[in-house]
Amino acid sequence: MLLAEERKMIAEYGKKLIDSGLTTGTGGNISIFNRDQQLMAITPSGVPYHNISPEDVAVLDLNNNILDSNKKPSSEYEMHKIFYEKRKNVTAVVHTHSVYATTIACLNWELPAVHYLIGYAGSKVPLAKYATFGTKELAKNAYQAMGNYNAVLLANHGLLAVGKDIDWAFNTAEEIEFTCQIYYQTKTIGEPVILSSEEMKKIMEKFDSYGQIQK
Ligand code: 13P
Ligand code: ZN
Repeated sequence: MLLAEERKMIAEYGKKLIDSGLTTGTGGNISIFNRDQQLMAITPSGVPYHNISPEDVAVLDLNNNILDSNKKPSSEYEMHKIFYEKRKNVTAVVHTHSVYATTIACLNWELPAVHYLIGYAGSKVPLAKYATFGTKELAKNAYQAMGNYNAVLLANHGLLAVGKDIDWAFNTAEEIEFTCQIYYQTKTIGEPVILSSEEMKKIMEKFDSYGQIQK
């Protein structure tokens, strides 16, 4: 089976996405890019996460040819593909409709550095201009707004996170959802204190060697 390992991981992470409450129904999507083979594995469109088998995960090349799948690929494949084409260190993309990130996105706000864990994405999470789901315009807006950050809020839609692997992209989606919740809660009772860009720089340097990572 083409991209057997990647498709297995996507089926597993899809279940994690729905079980951890980071999305609802069939919202959101996940992909992994195999840079050696220049092929992307992406969740099928509109299939409940607990029903997705590795065979249902679609394999596409960067010209949008479907090379293997039982099912139609995610409607957002353009929004995943653009990051694999343009950012050489990105090999996984996670899109969610998580409640607090979507709340901030529906206000058309950016997320400031209210908690140090925003450092997974950068010193803030920018906001991408609204475009209809599943369009090239949305893909372009997301890419342009994200710049060199690792996450972007999609206006009136949700959150997109990227990473060097699926663990990293998934963690980023989780930590940004947490930070959005903290921002929302602090805004309801007062005015949150925002970390300075110097402090965020220090934090992001520390993240490079955080945990069990050997450099
Ligand atoms: P798909 O089921 O086609 O991946 O669409 C879900 C979604 O979140 C669209 O933005
Ligand atoms: Zn969506």
